[in-house]
Amino acid sequence: LVSRESKVENTVIRVGDCTIGGGAPVVIAGPCAVEEEEMMVKLACKLKRLGVHILRGGAYKPRTSPYSFQGLGVAGLRILADAGRAAGMPVITELTDAAHISDVCRYTDIIQIGSRNMQNFGLLQEVGRLKFPVMLKRGLSATLEEWLLAAEYIMAEGNREVILCERGIRSFETYTRNTFDINAIPAVKLLSHLPLIADPSHGTGRRELVLPVARAAMAAGADGVMLEVHPNPDQALSDGQQSLKPEELVSFMGELTNNTRLH
Ligand code: PEP
Ligand code: MN
Repeated sequence: LVSRESKVENTVIRVGDCTIGGGAPVVIAGPCAVEEEEMMVKLACKLKRLGVHILRGGAYKPRTSPYSFQGLGVAGLRILADAGRAAGMPVITELTDAAHISDVCRYTDIIQIGSRNMQNFGLLQEVGRLKFPVMLKRGLSATLEEWLLAAEYIMAEGNREVILCERGIRSFETYTRNTFDINAIPAVKLLSHLPLIADPSHGTGRRELVLPVARAAMAAGADGVMLEVHPNPDQALSDGQQSLKPEELVSFMGELTNNTRLH
């Protein structure tokens, strides 16, 4: 179901006023984790003014250490939904556990399945039974085939609204958090009709590399990017080192609207 052979034309997913995979580049932006309400509403309104299409923010954070900030849970979902409504933007948030499905579906427009759950087949099947767009991130060291077959698990249950997200893979390099796999962009576009978003924030882990890699991903054929943005990255409760300030998006947003595609 994921393959180009099964469907020649690109899948286009509509969320609110925004279309993903329809030719116009999509920008998803927001903090790694949802934090305080007032900050989130202000940030969302600022991002909307900059031309961002979809607001992101994690309420359930899959952190490496159990002692790191784990997210605000349902309170975070409510803040995200309020901020999206205030700014007039659809929202995306990560689902980490099938037990949270009804809460997450109540507050979000797109469900994100994170890298650590890419092969959580039970969870994939659960979201496959929903009528809800799902963005499936590539696993920490998943091959393209493993990633596409994970998407197949969702689609095989009936849900055809799947978006893929390249977020870098683990390599021997330690300078960057992950190695953003630029090859994956044109390869996945050849292999599958599904829309593809690039996440250069997790793909690099270093804020000074995020926009150059975002440009490369767009030039390689991505349908959009997801960027971690925080008003005060040094104070962020998670992933501050790879977060941009909203004003740093200005020139990038201009390039995207003027070129439609950078290739
Ligand atoms: C995220 O996007 O919030 C996230 C946790 O990313 P990943 O699953 O790619 O590590
Ligand atoms: Mn993050």
